[in-house]
Amino acid sequence: MMDPGIVCFQHCGPKVFCFSLPDNCPVCNADLSEANFSLLPFRVPYPFVRASQHPCAVVIKPTAGDFLNDYYNSMDLHIGLTTSSGTIVEFDKHGLRRHRSSHWGQCLLLGQASSPWVEHWDNTLMQSLDYGNLSKAASNRTVFCEKFIVPRTTSAGKYISLYRKLKDNGYYVHRNNNYNL
Ligand SMILES: [Zn+2]
Repeated sequence: MMDPGIVCFQHCGPKVFCFSLPDNCPVCNADLSEANFSLLPFRVPYPFVRASQHPCAVVIKPTAGDFLNDYYNSMDLHIGLTTSSGTIVEFDKHGLRRHRSSHWGQCLLLGQASSPWVEHWDNTLMQSLDYGNLSKAASNRTVFCEKFIVPRTTSAGKYISLYRKLKDNGYYVHRNNNYNL
């Protein structure tokens, strides 16, 4: 998805936004070819970037779809990093991976490392992709969930339910053997 090229101008009062300048003002119908604009037409800045053109950067995009067509406020965002050559490093439903796909063609740039950091940035990304069992498991989403996420969320879940019992009743008496800290 490219910049749709939104144009803004002001003729007789309100600001008008459009994809291309109309022949007549949509507000007062005056012929715009001879008009005096109170605000000359200008291109509204496109806020999104193509990740591959931004080396050593942190970028975000909606987990599903794109910002312009699919994104609403409550939706999940997905974060990615780029190497010095614009390769994307991300953890998604395929696991931890490096690629140059077009799926990062419309994202927001959160930050970009300055040039003295480039080598360190690349090395860190390379090493992080080969970080023992953590990286090994992260190459597959299901394995990563089983080995790293589920054990932690399960034990956190037990703790949370214990905490809520205590919060409601002030104390909790453990009478059977299903809670082990
Ligand atoms: Zn007008």
